[in-house]
Amino acid sequence: MNKHRIVVLGAGYAGAYVAGTLARRLSPRDVGITVVNAEPDFVQRLRLHQLAAGQEIAAPSLAEVFAGTGIDLRVARVTAVDPGRRTVALDGGHGGDELGYDTLVHALGSHGADHGVPGVAEYAFDVSVRPSALRLRERLESLSAREGGGGGVLVVGDGLTGIETATEIAESRPGLAVTLVARGELGVALSAGAREHLRRACDRLGVAVLEHTTVEAVEAERVRCADGTVLASDATVWTAGFTAGSVAAASGLEVTESGRIVVDRTMRSVSHPDVYAVGDSAYAIGDNGRPLPMSCASAGYTGRQATEAMVARLTGRKVPNAKLDYHGNHISLGRRDGILQMVDGEAQAKPAYVGGRKAARIKAGIVRMSLWGTGHPTFGVPKRKHRLAPALDAPDAPDAPDAPDAPDAKYATYAGKSVRTREDGAAAHG
Ligand SMILES: Cc1cc2nc3c(=O)[nH]c(=O)nc-3n(C[C@H](O)[C@H](O)[C@H](O)COP(=O)(O)OP(=O)(O)OC[C@H]3O[C@@H](n4cnc5c(N)ncnc54)[C@H](O)[C@@H]3O)c2cc1C
Repeated sequence: MNKHRIVVLGAGYAGAYVAGTLARRLSPRDVGITVVNAEPDFVQRLRLHQLAAGQEIAAPSLAEVFAGTGIDLRVARVTAVDPGRRTVALDGGHGGDELGYDTLVHALGSHGADHGVPGVAEYAFDVSVRPSALRLRERLESLSAREGGGGGVLVVGDGLTGIETATEIAESRPGLAVTLVARGELGVALSAGAREHLRRACDRLGVAVLEHTTVEAVEAERVRCADGTVLASDATVWTAGFTAGSVAAASGLEVTESGRIVVDRTMRSVSHPDVYAVGDSAYAIGDNGRPLPMSCASAGYTGRQATEAMVARLTGRKVPNAKLDYHGNHISLGRRDGILQMVDGEAQAKPAYVGGRKAARIKAGIVRMSLWGTGHPTFGVPKRKHRLAPALDAPDAPDAPDAPDAPDAKYATYAGKSVRTREDGAAAHG
């Protein structure tokens, strides 16, 4: 029997977990697992604002992460997916290549969304992926090195990433004048107490806050606002949300407006059953009936559900429902302060929050754990390797009896409907 080829696109928080777990649970006699990632090391995306601010962050080599797992690592950029032919086009820097698959896991993450605002692509910086965070870092270094040291940094967008970025830059580079531009009230998604905490932190760090301001255009050294105001800026940092990349949309998979792959309860594409999506790439409905936000926690939940579903389907077992939770957000405010904001079943901020050093310590612990977990993708996974069920080794074969496979009631309410960008949670950490 030919081996069943599982190809995992992306080795971020979601992809590395899925690949490691599958390698541990499926027999290498039946299954070959390949991971494709554009970079040779693991990028801790949730610390990219720190990298931009001038700090060093660990980036473990993926070859070491996957050593001994049997996973075949390909360092290459995915340029296209052809779900009809079940192939993936790669650019490894030395011309194109093609990879065939039987089951595909799409885990290519996301990047900054410019929302069509003119000048963002040309003039703005961002922290959504490592190359852009490094570009910002270089710019901030050159501003700090100016005679008299200084310059104005405008962070546009007061979502979680904007708040983290503005406070981090202000703390790491006190010579720069940082302004945070919010479209509405600052930290509107937080509880009243957490909002107050955030205001105090901005005051303490010298971050100026401009509320009720919509940026309409970015130029080389200024931005234009909807009310006609022009703001000078030596570095404009765009943190107004995330969008999934173009690969999925261009391949004909069903995606939302922000390019996320629409999946059922088991993380399987609703348009192409041999494709799964996890992490930021997946438009998944959580157990609260709402789209899961783009976050590391969602990467874990969706990764786990997808893995359970793939193993079950390939080995002829019932597909279990893993949890798809959303508990809250952990926001850093520099290195010594933070906010932990828990949410209720409606994804609204609960009145209580944790702030200050305690929150900073908890967040640092979570970040350490996420790095360790990704660096040890097979840790804690039972060693037993399942053989494939011969009759069920095709992903589009009928599922095991009473597997909860058909789009369930929660998904059905969304299936086939057009999905608005805001609704799909794309900006949750943006
Ligand atoms: C500055 C910042 C701070 C954040 N803070 C938090 C936080 O505090 N808490 C939280 O929960 N979330 C946070 N997030 C969001 C979190 O980082 C993402 O939700 C998470 O990384 C999603 O995981 P993923 O595996 O889906 O994608 P990623 O971690 O982005 O992994 C995608 C992988 O795919 C690779 N890739 C992408 N395109 C291609 C291609 N074409 N070809 C080959 N490889 C490709 C990338 O190199 C990467 O390795 C933050 C994000 C940013 C940018």
